[in-house]
Amino acid sequence: MQDDNNTKSVDCKEPETIRKELDDKFKPKKEQGLLLSDSYRRLELDKRAVKVMECGTFLEWRLYENGDQRLNHANFCKDRLCPMCSWRRSLKVFGQLSKVMEVLRELYQFVFLTLSMKNCTAEELSQAISALLGAWDRFSRTVPFKNAFEGFFRALEVTRDTDPIITPLMWYGSKKSHRKPKAAYYQNQGLSIGDPNPTFDTYNAHLHVITAVLPSYFKKGDYISQQQMIQLWRRACKVDYDPTAHIQKITQKGLKDVSEIDMSAAIAEVAKYSVKSRDFIVKDRFGNVVEDITDSGVLAFLRGLTGRRLYSYGGCFKKAAAELGITDKLDDDLVNTETGEVLAPELSYMILQYSWMMGCYNLVSKERHMNIDIVPD
Ligand SMILES: [Zn+2]
Repeated sequence: MQDDNNTKSVDCKEPETIRKELDDKFKPKKEQGLLLSDSYRRLELDKRAVKVMECGTFLEWRLYENGDQRLNHANFCKDRLCPMCSWRRSLKVFGQLSKVMEVLRELYQFVFLTLSMKNCTAEELSQAISALLGAWDRFSRTVPFKNAFEGFFRALEVTRDTDPIITPLMWYGSKKSHRKPKAAYYQNQGLSIGDPNPTFDTYNAHLHVITAVLPSYFKKGDYISQQQMIQLWRRACKVDYDPTAHIQKITQKGLKDVSEIDMSAAIAEVAKYSVKSRDFIVKDRFGNVVEDITDSGVLAFLRGLTGRRLYSYGGCFKKAAAELGITDKLDDDLVNTETGEVLAPELSYMILQYSWMMGCYNLVSKERHMNIDIVPD
């Protein structure tokens, strides 16, 4: 096997699609991961710092005669906050959930729920997540929930407000970045654009849920209105205010006339990262990391999310997932994120190995072979 660190010595060109994926997808996550590793080091979490620093430094692709190119081996770290691993988890959830819903849509329609409670401070975050998940447990066991919904997929997401002042984007919102306009909220408090942001450095834990309903749901008595949903969620949360409980119907005009865009938008929303690295790696306008705000965020997210079940299936979703051989143990395999047929690595005709060196991915080995397993351990 060729083992030469000089890319130029490799005889023929690497596939452009793999180079593009490395530069556009893997590299930015790797760079964010290194900033997370720096933060872990400052927090004296040295083991984590090393693990995240080494995440995704080795990637191996296999090429197949039918044109398939599959990532076959990688050293992912599985750290909860690692941007690389969060991306892999998200890809995996997206693929799995798409499969499950493809099966379920023969029988069901879908409703999208966003459930949340008030924002909290870094110190309160872990407790707030426990309260949210506890409320979900109570809510999903209630009679109205069971009568209305045949099953669900739920995902936990935590966001942090990192804007010190109210920006036009926050005021007017943006469809592109899924931000709702908050002008009315600020106006109620006598605030305008440029004023200090009243929710700066607070956290919001929320659940995105896709539930399955029978087609008759929208006409019969078990239908839960927006107002009823808020009251049911409020009772489950045991709070003295109206918490966020937003319902959206996932657009389907008929079983054969499904709006693919809306369906995949809903799947993308639940499959997105539990925490985005821009919420803890905070930079100033010159692009430099603001260390104290970054480190306090890293610590809060780490404490809040460690040991939590980020995603879970219930009812008909759980049954369909089990029949497809899908579990919610995502971290068992972050290499293969596709749910289709898994091609046997020995059937590939080419192995490409990449290493992260000097700030980019370099092709370090390219080996043509025929049905011989020569993967190093
Ligand atoms: Zn990782």
